[in-house]
Amino acid sequence: MTNQKKPAVAVDILPSPQGFCLSVPLYETFRFDNDKSNPFFAIEHFKNPLDIYCPECGRHSVFTLKQEAQYSDRSHFNNYIFSLAFSCSRDVAHKAIFVFLAHKGVLQKIGQTPSLADISVPDLRKYRPVLGDDRFRELARGIGLVSHGVGVGAFVYLRRVFEWLIESAHSDASKDAGWSEENYIRSRMDEKISLLKDHLPEFLVQNRGLYGILSVGVHTLTEEECLAAFPAVRLAIELILDDLLEKHERQSKVKAAAKSLEDLKSLIAKPET
Ligand SMILES: [Zn+2]
Repeated sequence: MTNQKKPAVAVDILPSPQGFCLSVPLYETFRFDNDKSNPFFAIEHFKNPLDIYCPECGRHSVFTLKQEAQYSDRSHFNNYIFSLAFSCSRDVAHKAIFVFLAHKGVLQKIGQTPSLADISVPDLRKYRPVLGDDRFRELARGIGLVSHGVGVGAFVYLRRVFEWLIESAHSDASKDAGWSEENYIRSRMDEKISLLKDHLPEFLVQNRGLYGILSVGVHTLTEEECLAAFPAVRLAIELILDDLLEKHERQSKVKAAAKSLEDLKSLIAKPET
């Protein structure tokens, strides 16, 4: 994957070592102070375990550091590549490796395995029954793209899923007494969220201002704006999905309970032989 995104300004605050490995997309740039000794000591000397999904085990596992940071060439101070290698506690052959480049006062993660998508998509699988196959694929694709620093493309997918979920809430709300469809159609996304407040998670309604960005045409947004908005949109999607999943599970339980009662009734009603 080539470096598709080159922000003009690197971020000054380095993420935590764990956040850098597990949440930050590849090639995102972070400035460090070249004159300070050990400017990113915490990352190079990170020793804590990582609790992540292991694609080879097919479930979550604890990964422990296999060897301390390995360096490609430290002859040029602050211009080198280093990597952190972890192993799955179930099988040491299952690896998690993160590669960093420190160059001209900028630190980047330039490679990793498993990919961010491989780590985060399995956690989303539980939502598949409520999302359906097509929306689930869009969500997974969006997360896959953002994990490679592709902001606009990722945002398009996530926005489609988000709007689809808002539309489901809209369809419920339109049955409410006193609902004004005209008013809804005229509204911006943050206003729509407010109108749907009885059908959406409270957090989303309280922070609806964050979602104003969804009303902006995607072609007017920069890669950085899309990447910056991505976590809030993803969180909103997960919150709505948590609610839907809970309803879905409750309905399945009610159905199963009704069936058990029916079976019991017919058993009791059965004349003894
Ligand atoms: Zn494993």
